[in-house]
Amino acid sequence: APPPEDAPTIFDKIVNGEIPATIVYQDEKVLAFRDINPQAPTHIVIIPKVKDGLTGISKAEERHVDILGRLLYATKLVAKQEGLDDGYRVVINDGPKGCQSVYHLHIHLLGGRQMNWPPG
Ligand code: 5GP
Repeated sequence: APPPEDAPTIFDKIVNGEIPATIVYQDEKVLAFRDINPQAPTHIVIIPKVKDGLTGISKAEERHVDILGRLLYATKLVAKQEGLDDGYRVVINDGPKGCQSVYHLHIHLLGGRQMNWPPG
Protein backbone atom coordinates (compact mmCIF):
# COMPACT_ATOMS: atom_id res chain seq x y z
CA ALA A 1 0.00 0.00 0.00
CA PRO A 2 1.24 3.52 -0.68
CA PRO A 3 2.40 5.55 2.29
CA PRO A 4 -0.36 7.72 3.76
CA GLU A 5 1.37 10.90 2.62
CA ASP A 6 0.66 9.74 -0.95
CA ALA A 7 -3.07 9.40 -0.34
CA PRO A 8 -5.14 11.15 -3.03
CA THR A 9 -6.50 14.60 -2.22
CA ILE A 10 -9.27 16.73 -3.64
CA PHE A 11 -6.74 18.12 -6.12
CA ASP A 12 -6.48 14.71 -7.81
CA LYS A 13 -10.23 14.89 -8.38
CA ILE A 14 -9.81 18.31 -9.97
CA VAL A 15 -7.02 16.97 -12.21
CA ASN A 16 -9.21 14.01 -13.19
CA GLY A 17 -12.26 16.18 -13.80
CA GLU A 18 -14.22 14.33 -11.10
CA ILE A 19 -15.06 17.63 -9.43
CA PRO A 20 -15.39 20.91 -11.28
CA ALA A 21 -12.96 23.79 -11.02
CA THR A 22 -12.45 26.97 -12.95
CA ILE A 23 -9.26 26.14 -14.78
CA VAL A 24 -7.31 29.18 -15.91
CA TYR A 25 -4.17 27.53 -17.27
CA GLN A 26 -2.79 24.11 -17.98
CA ASP A 27 0.04 22.45 -19.80
CA GLU A 28 1.38 18.91 -19.87
CA LYS A 29 2.58 18.98 -16.25
CA VAL A 30 0.83 21.88 -14.51
CA LEU A 31 -2.78 22.83 -13.72
CA ALA A 32 -4.00 26.19 -12.38
CA PHE A 33 -7.53 26.90 -11.14
CA ARG A 34 -9.40 29.48 -9.07
CA ASP A 35 -9.41 28.91 -5.32
CA ILE A 36 -12.86 28.00 -4.02
CA ASN A 37 -12.36 30.29 -1.00
CA PRO A 38 -10.50 33.28 -2.46
CA GLN A 39 -8.41 35.43 -0.15
CA ALA A 40 -7.96 38.17 -2.76
CA PRO A 41 -9.81 39.31 -5.91
CA THR A 42 -7.50 37.00 -7.85
CA HIS A 43 -6.61 33.77 -6.01
CA ILE A 44 -5.32 30.91 -8.11
CA VAL A 45 -3.89 27.56 -7.05
CA ILE A 46 -1.12 26.10 -9.21
CA ILE A 47 -0.36 22.39 -8.88
CA PRO A 48 1.59 19.58 -10.50
CA LYS A 49 -0.86 17.27 -12.30
CA VAL A 50 1.08 14.32 -10.86
CA LYS A 51 1.95 14.61 -7.16
CA ASP A 52 4.85 12.10 -7.20
CA GLY A 53 5.27 12.29 -3.42
CA LEU A 54 5.22 16.09 -3.35
CA THR A 55 2.70 16.45 -0.59
CA GLY A 56 4.33 19.75 0.28
CA ILE A 57 7.46 21.77 -0.43
CA SER A 58 9.11 20.22 2.63
CA LYS A 59 9.03 16.85 0.83
CA ALA A 60 10.90 18.09 -2.27
CA GLU A 61 13.66 15.82 -3.61
CA GLU A 62 16.19 16.29 -6.38
CA ARG A 63 13.85 14.52 -8.84
CA HIS A 64 11.30 17.30 -8.34
CA VAL A 65 13.55 20.13 -9.51
CA ASP A 66 12.04 20.22 -13.01
CA ILE A 67 8.42 20.35 -11.84
CA LEU A 68 9.28 22.94 -9.17
CA GLY A 69 10.69 25.20 -11.87
CA ARG A 70 7.68 24.61 -14.11
CA LEU A 71 5.30 25.52 -11.29
CA LEU A 72 7.06 28.82 -10.66
CA TYR A 73 7.24 29.65 -14.35
CA ALA A 74 3.53 28.81 -14.76
CA THR A 75 2.84 31.16 -11.84
CA LYS A 76 4.43 33.99 -13.79
CA LEU A 77 2.44 33.11 -16.93
CA VAL A 78 -0.84 33.03 -15.02
CA ALA A 79 -0.09 36.32 -13.25
CA LYS A 80 0.49 37.94 -16.63
CA GLN A 81 -2.64 36.33 -18.08
CA GLU A 82 -4.64 37.64 -15.11
CA GLY A 83 -3.30 41.15 -15.66
CA LEU A 84 -1.60 41.45 -12.29
CA ASP A 85 0.81 44.00 -13.68
CA ASP A 86 1.14 46.02 -10.45
CA GLY A 87 2.30 43.04 -8.43
CA TYR A 88 1.09 40.00 -6.62
CA ARG A 89 1.89 37.56 -3.83
CA VAL A 90 3.13 33.97 -4.29
CA VAL A 91 2.71 31.66 -1.28
CA ILE A 92 3.40 28.03 -0.41
CA ASN A 93 1.92 26.91 2.91
CA ASP A 94 3.69 23.94 4.46
CA GLY A 95 2.60 21.77 7.34
CA PRO A 96 0.41 22.58 10.31
CA LYS A 97 2.25 25.74 11.32
CA GLY A 98 2.18 26.94 7.71
CA CYS A 99 -1.61 26.43 7.60
CA GLN A 100 -1.39 23.81 4.84
CA SER A 101 -4.74 22.07 4.40
CA VAL A 102 -4.34 20.07 1.16
CA TYR A 103 -1.34 17.72 1.02
CA HIS A 104 -0.63 17.99 -2.71
CA LEU A 105 1.98 20.68 -3.34
CA HIS A 106 0.46 23.93 -4.56
CA ILE A 107 1.42 27.52 -5.12
CA HIS A 108 -1.05 30.24 -4.21
CA LEU A 109 -1.11 33.25 -6.55
CA LEU A 110 -2.85 36.19 -4.89
CA GLY A 111 -3.48 39.59 -6.42
CA GLY A 112 -5.90 42.35 -7.23
CA ARG A 113 -5.49 44.11 -3.89
CA GLN A 114 -2.66 45.55 -1.81
CA MET A 115 -0.78 42.80 0.03
CA ASN A 116 0.82 43.44 3.39
CA TRP A 117 4.11 42.37 4.92
CA PRO A 118 4.69 40.62 7.28
CA PRO A 119 1.73 38.39 6.41
CA GLY A 120 0.95 37.28 9.97
P1 5GP B 1 -3.59 25.30 1.67
O1 5GP B 1 -4.43 25.73 2.83
O2 5GP B 1 -3.33 23.82 1.73
O3 5GP B 1 -2.34 26.10 1.48
O4 5GP B 1 -4.43 25.62 0.38
C1 5GP B 1 -5.45 24.81 -0.09
C2 5GP B 1 -6.36 25.70 -0.88
O5 5GP B 1 -7.20 24.89 -1.68
C3 5GP B 1 -7.27 26.55 -0.01
O6 5GP B 1 -7.04 27.92 -0.32
C4 5GP B 1 -8.67 26.09 -0.38
O7 5GP B 1 -9.61 27.14 -0.42
C5 5GP B 1 -8.46 25.48 -1.74
N1 5GP B 1 -9.40 24.40 -2.02
C6 5GP B 1 -9.70 23.36 -1.20
N2 5GP B 1 -10.59 22.56 -1.79
C7 5GP B 1 -10.85 23.10 -3.02
C8 5GP B 1 -11.71 22.71 -4.09
O8 5GP B 1 -12.40 21.70 -4.04
N3 5GP B 1 -11.72 23.50 -5.18
C9 5GP B 1 -10.96 24.62 -5.28
N4 5GP B 1 -11.04 25.34 -6.40
N5 5GP B 1 -10.14 25.02 -4.28
C10 5GP B 1 -10.09 24.27 -3.16
